Amino acid sequence: MSSSDCVFCKIVSGRIPCKKIYEDEQILAFLDIRPVSDGHTLVVPKAHFEKLHQCPPEVLSKVSSCVGKIVQAVVGAVGAAGYNVLCNNGRVAGQLVDHVHFHIIPRNKGDEVFTRWPAYEYEQGRADEIAEKICERL
Ligand code: AMP
Repeated sequence: MSSSDCVFCKIVSGRIPCKKIYEDEQILAFLDIRPVSDGHTLVVPKAHFEKLHQCPPEVLSKVSSCVGKIVQAVVGAVGAAGYNVLCNNGRVAGQLVDHVHFHIIPRNKGDEVFTRWPAYEYEQGRADEIAEKICERL
């Protein structure tokens, strides 16, 4: 499955070049063209799925089994102290390319890659209410 105007499908098929770092039958990993830190890598299933929840479990399982291995190599190569694995879904969540992908972002102390994490506390009863609604849908 591929989408003719999808930039990652074009990378997968070789119509757009990339700095490839890993490939197997189902997965491709390459350096992000506009990194937020050295070694910033994208891991994508070769098949086109727009969002995480649309990926079949076997594809997600394959991606996640590769991510650990790739993380180890990336983090070791750039000597990072930590990393984030991030999957943006939807424009409001920062997804610009509509082909599911996982960012591996090497992190170092004081790098200021993510400067805002707007955590707050639930009002009384709100967490129960939300958890119940979520569970009803599972
Ligand atoms: P997102 O905002 O989560 O959809 O991330 C899309 C990422 O794809 C961005 O970090 C872009 O820099 C990256 N990107 C877009 N086009 C290319 C490309 N041709 N090669 C490598 N990375 C790309």
